[in-house]
Amino acid sequence: MKIARMLFPVNNLGPGNRVVIWMAGCKRQCVGCANPELQDATGIKDISIGILRNAILQFVKSAGCNVEGFTITGGEPFEQPEALMEIIEMCHEYCNDILVFSGNVRAELAKYEDDIVSNISVLIDGPYIEAQNNGHPLKGSDNQVVHFIDESVREKYQKYFSQMNGKNYIECFSTQDGVVVTGIHKPDFKKEYKKHVKEARHKEKEHE
Ligand code: SF4
Repeated sequence: MKIARMLFPVNNLGPGNRVVIWMAGCKRQCVGCANPELQDATGIKDISIGILRNAILQFVKSAGCNVEGFTITGGEPFEQPEALMEIIEMCHEYCNDILVFSGNVRAELAKYEDDIVSNISVLIDGPYIEAQNNGHPLKGSDNQVVHFIDESVREKYQKYFSQMNGKNYIECFSTQDGVVVTGIHKPDFKKEYKKHVKEARHKEKEHE
């Protein structure tokens, strides 16, 4: 499986302390894509589910908090269906809150409805359309739809939406590969991103 990155704990891509997994590769090329560097999976090393599982264990150990949910994004997770299914099965070892983003609309995923889709709790589907970015806490643009596949998590997400007060925000994480931004971005996020990177680097220097 080609995984571009993983972070924990992330709090702005769904409710609670989440493991976020970015799968590499996406053919869509939406204008204004937040992760254009993940569209081309060439050069991303193949890893096994065992390596991913160990990485999660290490993350959880060093963060000192429990996993309250998983968010799987990219790239396009459904471009690696077998890997996505393996990841989902592993996520169920921790909890039942598994959110998956896809640039496809749900009808385009019909062949995965009985295996992948029925095993996740929330699907946010549809391509990113910059002109329809209205600042929703989890939808990149208004054309996307939040599908509660597992109704038991609906209340938790509705609480999260109201806590976020209908807004989104981005966070920066310092990683060995540089600064990584999480969250649903605004159309002018590059300006905000530069500001956050500057602040993150400043904080890093203070701790050196
Ligand atoms: S579907 Fe997502 S990852 Fe793919 S190009 Fe569009 S915004 Fe980027």
